[in-house]
Amino acid sequence: KGNLLEVSSLRTAFYDGDTKIEAVRGIDFTVEKGEILGIVGESGSGKSVMVKSILGIVPENAKVDVSEILLDGKNIENLSKKEKRTIRGRDIAMIFQDPMTALNPLKKAGDHLIELLVRIRGMKKKEAKLEAIELLKMVGIPSPEKRVDQYPHEFSGGMRQRVLIAMALACKPKLLIADEPTTALDVTIQAQILELLKKLQKENDMSVVLITHDLGVVATICSRILVMYAGMVMEEGMADEIFYSPKHPYTKALLNSIPRVDGERTRLKPIKGSAPSLKNLANGCPFADRCEVAIDKCFTEAPEYKSFSSTQKCKCFLAGEGDNLDD
Ligand code: ATP
Ligand code: MG
Repeated sequence: KGNLLEVSSLRTAFYDGDTKIEAVRGIDFTVEKGEILGIVGESGSGKSVMVKSILGIVPENAKVDVSEILLDGKNIENLSKKEKRTIRGRDIAMIFQDPMTALNPLKKAGDHLIELLVRIRGMKKKEAKLEAIELLKMVGIPSPEKRVDQYPHEFSGGMRQRVLIAMALACKPKLLIADEPTTALDVTIQAQILELLKKLQKENDMSVVLITHDLGVVATICSRILVMYAGMVMEEGMADEIFYSPKHPYTKALLNSIPRVDGERTRLKPIKGSAPSLKNLANGCPFADRCEVAIDKCFTEAPEYKSFSSTQKCKCFLAGEGDNLDD
C-alpha cells in the first residue's frame, strides 16, 4: 500500500542555558498506509517529543533538525509555518492523554466539533451540528442528539476521550496520532477506546500512530511496533516479531516487565536502574549500564542496526549472536 509518512534523521534537542538535552537522537521511521503503528518506551524516552517535532509543536527552547518529512510523498518540512498548521489540522490529527484539559469546560461538547467543522471543512453552522451528531454517534456516544448540547463535565472520562477522538476525526485526517490516549482511563474503558480506534482506523482507512509506555496496550491493536529508548529506536518489527522473537535486550526487559497475556498471574519485573540522563550522553549503547548481557564494547561504541527480516531490525552488538541472548 506504500508509505503515508516518512521521516528521516530526526533530531530534537532542548536548550536550557548551557545545557543541551538530546531528547530525540537520529530517528528514521515510516508509517504505512492503513497501519496502526505502536511506539513504546519508558517515560522520558522521547515519544511525545518525536511526534511533536514532526508536527512542529515543540516548545520555544527546542531545536528540531530533520532531513525530510514526507506526507503522502510530499515534503512537508520546507513548508511555511502557516502551511504546516493547515496540514496539522487537516491531514494529521492528534489526541492527547488528558481529555479534561483538552476540552474547554465552558463550551458544549458539540460546539468543540462545530467550530472545527466550520473552520476547517468550511461548513455552515446548521450543517456542522448535524455532522457533529454523526461524529458523536461514530465514536459510540449514546444519545448523541442530546449529548451534543452538554458540557464536558457531564461526560465521564471515557466519554470525554471519545469526544476528543471525534474532534480528531472531524477533519477526516489521513493520520491520527494518539499519545497515551487511554492512560487516564480505567482498564475496561481503556479496552473500549482501543477497540474504537481500531474500528475507526478500518472504517476511515487512515493510519494510526499509537504512543504508549504499555506493551500490553500495543499488543492488542498494533500491526507494527517501534521500541524507543533514550531518544532512539532500539528495535522495530511487526508485532509478532516483537512479541515472539524480540532481539534487543531492552525489548526483552520490557516484555518481562508486563504480566503474561495468558492471564496467568506473574509478578511484574521492573527493569533495573533508570533511563540515562539525556545531557552529556556517553558514547556507547545508552542501555548498556542496565543491560544484563552488555560486553565492554557496548560502553564505548554505538551499535548500528542489524536486520533480522525485511521488517525487523535492532541496535545491539549481541542480538542474534546466540551466546548470551537465547535467541
Ligand atoms: P512519557 O511516557 O512520560 O510521556 P515520553 O517518552 O513522551 O515520556 P518526552 O515527553 O518525549 O518523553 O520527553 C523526552 C525527554 O525530553 C524528557 O526526558 C526530557 O528530558 C526532555 N524534555 C521534554 N520536554 C522538555 C522541555 N520542555 N524542556 C526540556 N527538556 C524537555
Ligand atoms: Mg509522552
